[in-house]
Amino acid sequence: MKYRKLGRTGVDVGIVGLGAEYLEQASEDTVTSVVHAAIDGGVNYIDLFLASPGVRDNFGIALQNKRHQVMIAGHLGSVLRDGQYCRSRDKVECEKFFADLLTRLKTDYIDALMLHFVEKPDDYETVFNSEGLLGLAQKFKKEGKARFIGVSSHNVPVALRTVNSGHIDVLMFTINPAFDTLPGDMHVEVSFKEVLYHHSDAIGRESMLAREALYHACAIQNVGLVAMKPYAAGVLFRDNPTSMMLTPVQCLNYALSQPAVCTVVPGCKNVAEMNAALAFLEATDEEKDFSAINANTMWKLKGSCMYCNHCLPCPVGIDIGITTRITDTAGYEINDNIVSEYEALSAKASACTECGVCVERCPFGVDVIVNMNRAVDIFGQ
Ligand code: SF4
Ligand code: SF4
Repeated sequence: MKYRKLGRTGVDVGIVGLGAEYLEQASEDTVTSVVHAAIDGGVNYIDLFLASPGVRDNFGIALQNKRHQVMIAGHLGSVLRDGQYCRSRDKVECEKFFADLLTRLKTDYIDALMLHFVEKPDDYETVFNSEGLLGLAQKFKKEGKARFIGVSSHNVPVALRTVNSGHIDVLMFTINPAFDTLPGDMHVEVSFKEVLYHHSDAIGRESMLAREALYHACAIQNVGLVAMKPYAAGVLFRDNPTSMMLTPVQCLNYALSQPAVCTVVPGCKNVAEMNAALAFLEATDEEKDFSAINANTMWKLKGSCMYCNHCLPCPVGIDIGITTRITDTAGYEINDNIVSEYEALSAKASACTECGVCVERCPFGVDVIVNMNRAVDIFGQ
């Protein structure tokens, strides 16, 4: 496993994590086998938004004697009513479900307490105040029942507000090549696939830029970005109007290539799917290459760096993907963290000899030399 810092929490998280979405109806044996396969593969970040007692019990059993090996992301605002999962902003109800989560997981604390599914501006106002769920999460943190506070969202403007509020350490956001072309203020009530197949090229491009700005904002604020739904609910594996058939490894590489992403949490319903995700760790550069997304006519990627490093090796040792990502973040806002990250690079953009081999290799038509010159202009080396 490879590890990255989960933003300002300073905790090392495995780049491949586990989401529980498809384990809701699974048996105790299945949950245990998937969780153990994950932990054996080095996974140490598990997201558990589900509120149903059975799945919470099963995770508690699976994590017996292994709780210390993983960070658990539990959600505040995800409840069960009449047997149906739903979102709640009622503090009494949410407190009850949080206590239930701790009991069933047989733990005293949750590592990342996620304010669940903050999707609309008025919901932000409801949740983000001392009388709302944010205040409740802060109380749990003071009591030692939560180590860090996070948010899960699918909505770019709202997620951006949560990141810039200064109150959160972690953002869980949908990141995949299909979703990145959707309108930024899309609400999940709209059929994902309908929008995916029918929206225009212009919206796709605009949406991608809005999402890029969000990811860079996470980098600026040092908020750990957790990528959820990396496979777009399987849409990316099928032959479809978007012409984007990708493998799990390619999808994970796409998500992990975005700025500020620390870990990706694919929903795995069995050990085979968990192993397919863990295969990312051993995959070759060819297997990781996600440039097939270029075949999708909705993508207007020409010239946009995806930080994928398909252009390496550079003869003078520049890590082109990371150098460009840091430079792009600095284009939004520059701070000490970004400068330190640049200074830590072993080869700086100023070493570029303008040989051009990277430009020939880049599948996205990026003018790397222009980007290296931009880095030198910003960082002076
Ligand atoms: S320049 Fe091209 S190949 Fe290199 S990191 Fe950017 S998009 Fe990838
Ligand atoms: S053009 Fe610059 S960054 Fe690209 S391979 Fe050559 S030296 Fe490296």
